[in-house]
Amino acid sequence: MCGIVGYLGNRDAFPILIKGLKRLEYRGYDSAGIGLIAPSGSLNIYKKTGKVNQLEAYVANQNTAAHIGIGHSRWATHGIPSDSNAHPHTSESGRLAMVHNGIIENYAALKSELLARGHHFASETDSEVLIHLIEEIQQNEGCSLAEAVRLSLSQIIGAYAIVLINKANPTEMVAARKGSPLVIGVGENEFFIGSDASPLIEYTKNVIYLNDLEVAHITQGQLNIKSIDNNVRTPKIQELELKLEAIEKGGYDYFMSKEIHEQPRSIKDCMRGRIYPEQGLVTLGGLKEYSEKLKQAERLVFVACGTSWHAALVGEYLIEDFARTSVEVEYASEFRYRNPIIGEKDIVIAISQSGETADTLAAMTLAKERGATVLGICNVVGSSIPRLSDAGIYTHAGPEIGVASTKAFTAQVTVLTLFALYLSQLKGTLKQGKLIELLTELDHIPELVERCLQLDAGTRFIAEEIKNSRNCIFLGRGTGFPIALEGALKLKEISYIHAEGYPAAEMKHGPIALIDEDMPVVVIATKNSSYDKVISNIQEVKARKGKVIAIVTEGDEEVRKLADFVLEIPNADDTFLPLLASIPLQLLSYHTALLRGCNVDQPRNLAKSVTVE
Ligand code: GLU
Repeated sequence: MCGIVGYLGNRDAFPILIKGLKRLEYRGYDSAGIGLIAPSGSLNIYKKTGKVNQLEAYVANQNTAAHIGIGHSRWATHGIPSDSNAHPHTSESGRLAMVHNGIIENYAALKSELLARGHHFASETDSEVLIHLIEEIQQNEGCSLAEAVRLSLSQIIGAYAIVLINKANPTEMVAARKGSPLVIGVGENEFFIGSDASPLIEYTKNVIYLNDLEVAHITQGQLNIKSIDNNVRTPKIQELELKLEAIEKGGYDYFMSKEIHEQPRSIKDCMRGRIYPEQGLVTLGGLKEYSEKLKQAERLVFVACGTSWHAALVGEYLIEDFARTSVEVEYASEFRYRNPIIGEKDIVIAISQSGETADTLAAMTLAKERGATVLGICNVVGSSIPRLSDAGIYTHAGPEIGVASTKAFTAQVTVLTLFALYLSQLKGTLKQGKLIELLTELDHIPELVERCLQLDAGTRFIAEEIKNSRNCIFLGRGTGFPIALEGALKLKEISYIHAEGYPAAEMKHGPIALIDEDMPVVVIATKNSSYDKVISNIQEVKARKGKVIAIVTEGDEEVRKLADFVLEIPNADDTFLPLLASIPLQLLSYHTALLRGCNVDQPRNLAKSVTVE
């Protein structure tokens, strides 16, 4: 969380920084700030509570001329969102300014020591402590800024991506990272910094992904990297594949709507070159080296958070059914702290859209320490999770900017479906004929997803009916259950209506007590193996006057008689239900949130790419 940017070169820094912050705003948006060193040598800091637009309006009449600067869009962890807690923060003398993404866990102890030594603090943040420490070390050691950063970081417990500028030397910038992402764009005698590559994309295709525990010293035309333990590192310049159109709204009002409608394409991209229906063949190149290990594995453990955790649950159902390998699905945040039983025989699979989810990274590190093989399923190429994994599969959904995940979720589900089939192919647990049948159907899923998108008007109509509800229940069975969980999460995160997902049969063990005429109940009631049971669950809801919104298979008559509203999705094998049923649920949340006047792309209190624990 938090977006950070930096620029050093000959161009006007301000517009580059502001544009970069707007691109990174999905990472945090409670306040924003910019620090610029003017040609006169003054360090000018502008910070404001609210979105980047508000900062831009606030700075409108100021002199922003500068060729060097840093910027930050915040998701507060320590200290409320306020002008003074916004970044950049400055050192005791006011000479240094710094932006920080992450958490300094030992900030309280450091702060009391610094206070005792006469430091003054202007904010409640953990970040400000670090910049004071850096300046103090530089003064005491009489060393360069980069050296002071390196020495200070050895005292830091926590996660950080930082960028510093120095009023005394307006042609240097220092950056470092541990646990939070940082990309450096390399131009002609100029450097760009971003939490991801989106701020640099129109200026350069050459990027360096800074590694954990590295400090970059950037001067005009020069970049040197050292590890925190003082070894010189050779920067590895990579070519960026991201395209500008991919991070723009492309005619849609909101990123969320664009991303929902991109799903036929993103699912196709995810399968491209991986399935050969006529031969009944799935190839996952990234896992080739581990195929024998996967075949032998007695159990797979998924670690994930939020939406990715729901995708993992879908994976569990499919893998156990098709490949007969036992699967456990763990919340990464619990796994890492609960002394799990993991050993060399285990395969741990981390799932994350951003590839930067702090808890998931920590869970992977723990699994590695215990000797497990660690695989990654991730959307952002070059991010930390793929780099920490032994092997993995990219979801290829393209950049997802809306904070509520949509296309990244269905891409994860697609990858997990492919993985389940791949594993069953390795183990020989599915007949070739069945594989051909399933892969042939999977190949056509993008067209069926396209048809699900035609539910836009229908979901908008239902959204009118539920927009004033205070609560909502989502029910499903089989793989419909994780989709119910995901539907509920989507509704609560963007419309702020309290929503819970349950396995339909669990309703009678508690949640049924909540049902009355004001309770909308969204039921996934497609024609699959538990169809009759779900119908009984719908009857139970109706008997208590609940309002039923049912996702049904096209042409269904039975549920239609019972439900208040139906949304029809195309008929498909049970395996593909998650990919199809997710679409109307995403649209329902989207329209409900819009009708309630909510910001669907940037819901309150949330941020994408959860780099804090
Ligand atoms: N801990 C810092 C703050 O609260 C940075 C937060 C973040 O990276 O999300 O300001």
